[in-house]
Amino acid sequence: MKKQFAVIGLGNFGFFLATALFQKGHEVLGIDINPKLVQEIRDRISRAVIADATDAQAMKELELAKMDAVVVSIGSVLNSSILATLNVKDLGAKKVVAKAVSEAHGRILRKIGADEIYFPEKDLALTAAQRLDNPNVLDYLPFMEGYSIVQLAPPSSFIGKTLIELDLINRFGIQVIAIKELIPENVVMIPTGRFVVKDSDILVLLGPEDALVGLQEKTA
Ligand code: ADP
Repeated sequence: MKKQFAVIGLGNFGFFLATALFQKGHEVLGIDINPKLVQEIRDRISRAVIADATDAQAMKELELAKMDAVVVSIGSVLNSSILATLNVKDLGAKKVVAKAVSEAHGRILRKIGADEIYFPEKDLALTAAQRLDNPNVLDYLPFMEGYSIVQLAPPSSFIGKTLIELDLINRFGIQVIAIKELIPENVVMIPTGRFVVKDSDILVLLGPEDALVGLQEKTA
C-alpha cells in the first residue's frame, strides 16, 4: 500500500532513505536547509523543499501530520536534531523516527517523544562485526530488545540433518523461521521438522541474541 513519508535532513542517510522509499512506490517529501541537496534529490522523490526544520512556522506549512511517518535525519547538529524532532511532534505527526549519533542523543530524542530511534552507524558496525567475525553469517537484523534474526549458511555439521535432529529450539531456544533454497531458488517459510538441510541452503533464524552468537561461535 502506498504510504506518505517525510524525510528531514538529506545527508547520506536521509538521502538514501528518501530515494529508497520512493523506489518502493511511496510518496516522499524531502526537506533540507541546503538548496544543493534539495536540487539533487528533486527528480528522485515526489517533492523536495528547502526549509529550516528548527523553524516551527516553516514546518507548519508542510502538513506533516498527514504523513504516515516523519523521519528526522539530522545527526551531527544536536540542537537542530532536537528542535526539529520537537517541532514535528508538536505538529501532530503520527509517527516520528529520529536518527541519533550517540546513546545520549538517542535518550534525548526518546524523552522528547520520538517513537523510534535509529543508530545507523552503530547498527551497521554491529552487522559488519558479525560478518567479519563469522562469514557464515550473511545478514543480521536486530529484532525486539534482545532478539535478532540472522541468515546463516549452515555449518558442515548441519548438512544432511533434519531440523528435528538439529533441534535448535530445545538446544538453544532458536527457531528456524525460513529456509532459502538456492537450487532451485525457493523460500520455505516455517519449515517442518522433516526438512533436510543442504549445503546450498541459507537458514533464517530467530532467537535470543546471546544464543545466536553462541551458535555462530560453534559453527565458525
Ligand atoms: P549524514 O551523516 O547522514 O550525512 P548529517 O547529520 O551529516 O547526516 O546530515 C544532516 C543533513 O541535515 C544535512 O544535509 C543538513 O543540511 C541537514 N540539516 C541540518 N540542519 C537542518 C535544519 N535545521 N533543517 C533542515 N535540514 C537540516
